[in-house]
Amino acid sequence: MGKEEVYTILIIDDEKANLMVLNKMLSSEYTVLTAKSGSEGLSRIEAEKPDLILLDIIMPDMNGFEILKRLKERNETGRIPVIIITGLDNEEDEEKGLLLGAVDYIIKPFKNAIVMARVKTHIQMVRQFKMIERLGLEDPLTGIPNRRCFQDRLGLEWRRAFRERKPLSFLMIDVDTFKQYNDTYGHPQGDSLLCAIAKLFTAAARRPGDLAARLGGEEFGVLLPETGLRYALEIAERIRRAVETARIPAPDGNTMTGATVSIGAVSCIPDRDAAMDGFIAQADGYLYAAKEQGRNRVCFGGAESAG
Ligand code: GH3
Ligand code: MG
Ligand code: MG
Repeated sequence: MGKEEVYTILIIDDEKANLMVLNKMLSSEYTVLTAKSGSEGLSRIEAEKPDLILLDIIMPDMNGFEILKRLKERNETGRIPVIIITGLDNEEDEEKGLLLGAVDYIIKPFKNAIVMARVKTHIQMVRQFKMIERLGLEDPLTGIPNRRCFQDRLGLEWRRAFRERKPLSFLMIDVDTFKQYNDTYGHPQGDSLLCAIAKLFTAAARRPGDLAARLGGEEFGVLLPETGLRYALEIAERIRRAVETARIPAPDGNTMTGATVSIGAVSCIPDRDAAMDGFIAQADGYLYAAKEQGRNRVCFGGAESAG
């Protein structure tokens, strides 16, 4: 059993008394955030990414239904469960709320125990969902996204780049002479190195939409949407240097263990005939060239474009 995770619940209600009662009740088990208006609610959702939302319907600035609709329209917020908690007690409103994607509908005045029970049920579902997500898409060693996650996102970003005529860049990264590193320092130390450099990749791919993933073994990929070759090369070089200068403690007390990476970088604006697999294969080709030319370097290709 891992340690218990604390979940965050956002309550959006324009009535102070309601906020206070719900806050008091829920804060014994959850981290509770509150918002006194629709617009404040939306910005808190954006900033805090709560695990569950309790949403009032009638508020002066923005109707709860409208908020719900907006949340469901967006990928990042569409999966946050919303419980409507409202004075509107007719079936049409309940149906409307549920059809818009609310997971539950509670009518005021509410019984505390019932709100608690329903919240608990939905939080349990959030917990399960998170676990599945972790199990399916995260690389267990490094904790960064795995190949499957990468493939999903690549497909998505490829189509988006095609639709929007925007450049997409990709870095294929492979640890140099890693077999030798393992032989010298041992396999567990090799694992530690992979974990440490995975963090460097994640830190370098820091714009929203960027994705650093472990593709397998000692091979990693960095996907850079809306990024042309020039900026992609800047990031590739930043990564190469970060690994080269990283101090990763080894069992012999040495911290400069000489680990380096080679990188194949590609960029394109996908067109109708361009093949996604070919794009990745191209990066692989440049990676191979980087190895051939002596390792610890970036080789690249693709149309020069701004960004
Ligand atoms: P090159 O510079 O040509 O890439 O040489 P290399 O030694 O890195 O390449 P090679 O493909 O010969 O060896 C890869 C090594 O990576 C062998 C394998 O044992 C090691 N490896 C793969 N996955 C892991 C892992 O999860 N942990 C550890 N410690 N080693 C791993
Ligand atoms: Mg290697
Ligand atoms: Mg390899």
